[in-house]
Amino acid sequence: MRLLRLGPVGHEKPAVLVDDTSYIDVSDVVTDFDEAFFASGRIAELPALIAGRAAQPIGAQRIGSPIARPHQILCIGLNYSDHAAESGMAVPTEPILFTKSPNTIQGPDDDVVVPVGSEKTDWEVELGIVIGSRAYRLADEAAAEKAIAGYTVVNDVSERAWQLERGGQWSKGKSAPTFNPCGPWLVTPDEVGDVNALSMYLDVDGARRQTGSTATMIFGPAFLVHYLSQFMQLEPGDLINTGTPPGVGLGMTPPTYLRGGETIELGIERLGVQRQRVVAATA
Ligand code: ZN
Repeated sequence: MRLLRLGPVGHEKPAVLVDDTSYIDVSDVVTDFDEAFFASGRIAELPALIAGRAAQPIGAQRIGSPIARPHQILCIGLNYSDHAAESGMAVPTEPILFTKSPNTIQGPDDDVVVPVGSEKTDWEVELGIVIGSRAYRLADEAAAEKAIAGYTVVNDVSERAWQLERGGQWSKGKSAPTFNPCGPWLVTPDEVGDVNALSMYLDVDGARRQTGSTATMIFGPAFLVHYLSQFMQLEPGDLINTGTPPGVGLGMTPPTYLRGGETIELGIERLGVQRQRVVAATA
C-alpha cells in the first residue's frame, strides 16, 4: 500500500494511491497520517476501508509530505562507507546520530530555499523510515521490523558551513526551513520488498550527482530502529533519515553547491521521485 497526502500546504488530505496517477480519498475516515493515526494501528484497516471506492486522478494537485509533521526527525550520518570517504571522515563503528528540526518537513516537489547567507547548501538523497508503533528498548531486529510503518524518499538538505564549520552538533546545518522534502508516498514494507537492495539517484539540472543502493548501507533499517530504541523512545510517525550515498556537493572537486534557479530530481526504486526548484531566499 502507498499512502499520500494531497492539497495545499497545511490542508493536505490523507489518501491511498491506486496507481501512479490516481488515488482514493480517505479523509472522511482518517483525520491525517499523523502520530495518532499510526498509534491507532488503523493503517491495517485501510485496505478494507478503500474497497469498492472509486479512484480519482491526482491531476495538478499538490502532493504534500506523506506524513504530517512528526514528533521528531532523526538522522544517521556517514551510513554509506564511500560517502564517509568522500567527506574525509572515518567509517563509523556505531551509527552517528543527529536531529533535524521537525518543521523542515515539506512536500516532495516543494521549493528548496537557500537561506540568506548560505553559500554551501547541499543535497542528500536518502531512504526515510517511518515508525509505526512506539518503540523503546526493542528486544531485537525482528521487533524493530514490526515497528516500521513504511519507507519514503527524503532529501536531507544540508548547509555545510553551518554543519561543519560552526562547531558542535550537525543540527545547525540541517534545520533551515524547507530542508527536508519527503515523499511522494509512504510505501508499506510488504510493497517495498527487499529494502536492502533499492537503487537511488539524484540529479541537479539533469546532471547525475548521486548514484547508490541501499545495499551499501553500513547499518540497515532494522538495525537502526533497534539501535536507536536502546537510547530513546521512538514515537509513531517519527521519521529517520538513514544517510546518503556518495556524490554530494561537498565531495566534488571543487565542492559545488546549490544555487537559485536550479532543479533537483531524486528517486529511490519502488519509492518514487521528487523534483524541487531551488530558490534563493531574499529575506
Ligand atoms: Zn543525511
